[in-house]
Amino acid sequence: MEGKSYPAGTLIPKEDLRLLRIKYYGFDGEIKTGDMIVHKTVAGELLDIFQELLAAEYPIEKISLIDYYDADDMRSMTNNNTSAFYWRNITGGKSLSYHAVGLAVDINPLYNPYVKGNIVEPPSAAVYLDRTTPVKGLIANSQDAAVRAFKKRGWRWGGDWRTLKDYQHFEKHGNVYKKYKSKLAEISRETKP
Ligand SMILES: [Zn+2]
Repeated sequence: MEGKSYPAGTLIPKEDLRLLRIKYYGFDGEIKTGDMIVHKTVAGELLDIFQELLAAEYPIEKISLIDYYDADDMRSMTNNNTSAFYWRNITGGKSLSYHAVGLAVDINPLYNPYVKGNIVEPPSAAVYLDRTTPVKGLIANSQDAAVRAFKKRGWRWGGDWRTLKDYQHFEKHGNVYKKYKSKLAEISRETKP
């Protein structure tokens, strides 16, 4: 974490974060285990969500820490890596990302890109802009099992947003984020929400 997802100046205390070992249903049909760092207040419900997705044989290509990609979100997304905690701002640097406090998760990001106008992140996801294409792990609409699993626990889905779409992204609002809302990461890494 140090110097990567948890750079100097990170304000959220490590004691407030939890490392989860998550079992998931891989693209090859094998049950795999991956690591994910999240805020302690959502650790239990995220274990429940991923347990539900495993039971539904919901395909996830890989789950590993963004540190494995040297905290390079673009590399992690291009590799279709599902991840959560990462101390950073959102695009434009105007506010802290929900990922910065461990309250956001990106699922199969290559097939579920961030889209705003002509911007597609990761760029190699442009071939998945047609959301009706049947691709394993592509979150087509709000009937998707992951969308339902997150939403019923009060999470929001970026695929519902109007000014932009962030199909991979789920976030949990509440008092924890409010505490950090006015803060900004002092790092120049600014990407999608
Ligand atoms: Zn996200």
